[in-house]
Amino acid sequence: MRNKVIAGNWKMNKILAEANQFTDDVVKKVPSNDNVESIICAPFPFLTSLVEKTKGTKVKIGAQNMHYEEKGAFTGEVSPVMLKDLGVTHVVIGHSERREHFAETDETVNKKAHAAFKHGLTPIVCVGETLEQREANETMDHIEKQIRKGLEGLSDEQVASTIVAYEPIWAIGTGKTASSEDANEVCTHIRNVIKEATSEDTAEKVVIQYGGSVKPANIDELLTQSDIDGALVGGASLEAESFLALVEAG
Ligand code: PGA
Repeated sequence: MRNKVIAGNWKMNKILAEANQFTDDVVKKVPSNDNVESIICAPFPFLTSLVEKTKGTKVKIGAQNMHYEEKGAFTGEVSPVMLKDLGVTHVVIGHSERREHFAETDETVNKKAHAAFKHGLTPIVCVGETLEQREANETMDHIEKQIRKGLEGLSDEQVASTIVAYEPIWAIGTGKTASSEDANEVCTHIRNVIKEATSEDTAEKVVIQYGGSVKPANIDELLTQSDIDGALVGGASLEAESFLALVEAG
């Protein structure tokens, strides 16, 4: 059976002292259940400190983005080599905020997914539809395209260890959660698309998270769904207590 994976996405929040305090609190209290993984996806300036604080614990540290090139004249960018060297294990790729504000496309997502695996990082690949797309009944086609293009050219083994985060854009930071049945329907579709592109065995191994206004009050219901294996959490991951409650639900 697939593990549950709870990933906090702090986005552009906290200063170093707050990041450190949060991580100390989480490390102290994180449940020892082996079937749930917890990942804190933090801004770049905090990564060194947080990796140090979580060494030898069950808590993993992820980045929220990276460039796909290894090094060179890319002012302001951070490479997969740098992240790996710091001890970061995961990286969020193609979050809808990056697609919207920083011109990420399915092509850059694909390049970044390849770069992540090349350097031993686990990508958390985000997909999701807008409200307009949902209302126009385009959700399934749109998600299929994002998955096929985003994971193109990866080996079956790499696909199996990719984490996919289904985040309907209209549910992010809005307090509106997709109903757990609607969320599961799309997550099942994602698994089927992956099955067609690879194999049943590969698709069964992929961890698929739901994201969009996940909080302690709705996590249980989401996690009982057949194809939802965890959550990518923004707002409710900012306080240690609520992040821990989500991990405990896993
Ligand atoms: P939210 O953000 O939990 O605040 O809705 C989720 C995300 O953007 O990953």
